[in-house]
Amino acid sequence: MAKDNLTAILYGINDIRLEQTPIEDPNDDEVLLEMGCVGICGSDVHYLVNGRIGDFIVKKPMIIGHESSGVVVKIGTNVKTLKVGDRVAIEPGVPCRMCHFCKIGRYNLCKDIVFLATPPVHGSLRRFYKHAADFCFKLPENVSLAEGAFLEPLSVGVHACKRANITIGSKVLILGAGPIGLVTLLVAKSMGASKVVITDLMQDRLDVAKQLGADAVLLMTKDGTDEENVRRVHDLFGEEPDKTVDASGAQSSIRLAILATRSGGTAVLVGMGAPEVQIPLINALIREVDIRGVFRYANCYQDALDLIASGKVNVKPLITHNFKIEETIKAFDTSKDVKSGAIKVMIHCK
Ligand code: NAD
Ligand code: ZN
Repeated sequence: MAKDNLTAILYGINDIRLEQTPIEDPNDDEVLLEMGCVGICGSDVHYLVNGRIGDFIVKKPMIIGHESSGVVVKIGTNVKTLKVGDRVAIEPGVPCRMCHFCKIGRYNLCKDIVFLATPPVHGSLRRFYKHAADFCFKLPENVSLAEGAFLEPLSVGVHACKRANITIGSKVLILGAGPIGLVTLLVAKSMGASKVVITDLMQDRLDVAKQLGADAVLLMTKDGTDEENVRRVHDLFGEEPDKTVDASGAQSSIRLAILATRSGGTAVLVGMGAPEVQIPLINALIREVDIRGVFRYANCYQDALDLIASGKVNVKPLITHNFKIEETIKAFDTSKDVKSGAIKVMIHCK
């Protein structure tokens, strides 16, 4: 009898179906995993609702899911670092390992990176999935498979904080308290930031941020002027933040990231909204505010894992909902329903 490999396939807009797919055999450098957990990311929901993100368009049915973890059930002949039974977190982007960017360690910029659930590449929301062994991170016993799946968004926060050069004493402004803003808050604190202020349009997200250790929170409105926004941030800090991370993608936030940051400070942009936004670039020029982009992460998975394993960062309060793979459609409905209070929806594959 063929083994059960229930798989969540995105056929088109608002059309996810659960179907059986063949279990793939690992290549020499890969491992076959019995999947543990897959978290739902904003991008998964975006593909479900819009069928595309920018130039990435779902043209053919695509298996969804990329924030994932599993247990090794079979290893390729070249694999020395993992064995059957190991629990691992899966870093979802496998780069070419040959190009300039790969060689200098900035493999997130590799043009040939194969990233899960980014059309036309299939994702990992299935019972069995094979992956490059060197992009699997063995979990210590005190780290759960759900936390392993959470390393994906946590790594975005780690990369953002590294790009911002956050260190002991940093005064950090984070714009947007979605999953990415919240993990950035946790990482910034663990890196020694002495004050972290976070904003959002939604009070319930700010309440979570407060519970997670934000020093102050700021409820924004859509109609605030730049001047008002800057003044409110500075009043709350009692000074000017030296690092700002935008995790909202909203134009008003990106403008605020530049305008509110202390002269000589750094504004890091993580949020991806409209492809073109109007920003006060000359203000940044005159005050030498560095504007830095963030694209996913590179060499951050182990750091993210160490933060969880050592107890410096606790992501468990962010996992608000759990579903079985059979309940995938309900899980996505929960994730996209703003009234559900969902932060991270976790799907359990076993
Ligand atoms: P999310 O949509 O759950 O969170 C965004 C939050 O920003 C929401 O809580 C929203 O209420 C808030 N917001 C919107 N407008 C605001 C404003 N004007 N001021 C303050 N807050 C505002 O998304 P997420 O999963 O947390 O991701 C955050 C952003 O990061 C998204 O744009 C996502 O596409 C992007 N992202 C980028 C990368 C990358 O590699 N650069 C990786 C992951 C996610
Ligand atoms: Zn490369």
